[in-house]
Amino acid sequence: MSAVQNVGVVGAGAAGLATAILLAEAGADVVVYETKPTLGALGSGITLQGNALRALDRLGVWDQVRARSFSFDVLGIRAPGPEAPLVAEMPDNKMGGPDYPATAGMFRPDLAEIMLARAQALGANVRFGARVTAVTHADDGVTLTISTDAGGEQVTHELVVGADGLNSAVREQIGITTRPEPNGMGIFRAFVKRPPEADHTELVFGGPSYIAGFCPTGEDTMYAYLVEDKQDRQGMTPEEGSKIMAELARPYGAHWNAVRAQLEQGVEHVHYTWFTSHVVAEPWNRGRVVVIGDAAHSCPPTVAQGAAQALEDAVVLGDVLGRYDALSDELWAEFHARRVPRATTVVEASNQIAAWLLARERGDVQGVHRTVSDLVSQEP
Ligand SMILES: Cc1cc2nc3c(=O)[nH]c(=O)nc-3n(C[C@H](O)[C@H](O)[C@H](O)COP(=O)(O)OP(=O)(O)OC[C@H]3O[C@@H](n4cnc5c(N)ncnc54)[C@H](O)[C@@H]3O)c2cc1C
Repeated sequence: MSAVQNVGVVGAGAAGLATAILLAEAGADVVVYETKPTLGALGSGITLQGNALRALDRLGVWDQVRARSFSFDVLGIRAPGPEAPLVAEMPDNKMGGPDYPATAGMFRPDLAEIMLARAQALGANVRFGARVTAVTHADDGVTLTISTDAGGEQVTHELVVGADGLNSAVREQIGITTRPEPNGMGIFRAFVKRPPEADHTELVFGGPSYIAGFCPTGEDTMYAYLVEDKQDRQGMTPEEGSKIMAELARPYGAHWNAVRAQLEQGVEHVHYTWFTSHVVAEPWNRGRVVVIGDAAHSCPPTVAQGAAQALEDAVVLGDVLGRYDALSDELWAEFHARRVPRATTVVEASNQIAAWLLARERGDVQGVHRTVSDLVSQEP
């Protein structure tokens, strides 16, 4: 690694582990600080578009991802109602190019496990139960204050990558005030058994929920989701979540009949969260500290690109750090030129679709999808 030899990464999500993989592979000493005691990624599914798969290939984990995910190349749209007529079934764009499927669905903890194993195999030191509480620039590096069960400590790195998610402490510590804002929507996600015929994502727009959808994640698993006006559902147990979700799912037919039957019995993995949106205006770095992934941008998952963009942030960061000799203005200018407009377009497109849904307006959703697809089909 040319520009830096010693890097601290804050956060072991997709952005942080991808960064750790790429920098460790390039020969840097990498320490990842993760506040959680174990990996414990949220136990639901994720939709990985082709450009995310291309990035995962760059990380050297595509074969494992392919083996533990469910790939498909078609998207179905159904109308609400008990009959749930099929409105359209269209080929999904292969945004990663012809070598990858259009889409792969996956259980999030499986993806996290694969990425962690790869980072560790390449020599990255992933420290769980290590929360970063302060970030200060020193003469020749950045000092992190780390809080662990054993007490506090300070560690200095040449570069710090803040991949610490929506409520990023690193972002706050370096004085960036842009923060994720709720957009008014909330989503239920349940990890359920997949009926064999449900072999690609299907979406229902309309009915009492804004979106009712599902995505296959494996031979006999998938995740199903319902988007509603955001509610305060803090403290909801999986049993309560299953009940509410089953009730909300009542007006949806076809494969939702099987999902609802499982929800009525109670489902172990049911999660609820609000959608947010933000994008940090350039620059994402302050000196030797840079924020990436959800720390830098978030969006409603209406085009399923959040993690894809987080992975691309890491890929581009790894690329510029490998090609420049030092952390120069030119390095950061290239990083921002390749990342900020692209991530901003994705955030704005996602927001636009969400705004149409909230207003119950039709809008040119396909046109917006096309814009995103054309953009992210290109290498980042
Ligand atoms: C409902 C929903 C559905 C989504 N669906 C999709 C989808 O289908 N496809 C897609 O591509 N994207 C999707 N996304 C977006 C995607 O989940 C995120 O963009 C992605 O997970 C961001 O990864 P990250 O590594 O930046 O952040 P995170 O995954 O949040 O990781 C940040 C990590 O930092 C740790 N951390 C936080 N603070 C500290 C600290 N102070 N010290 C140490 N560690 C810290 C956290 O514990 C966490 O592990 C969805 C998002 C939502 C909300």
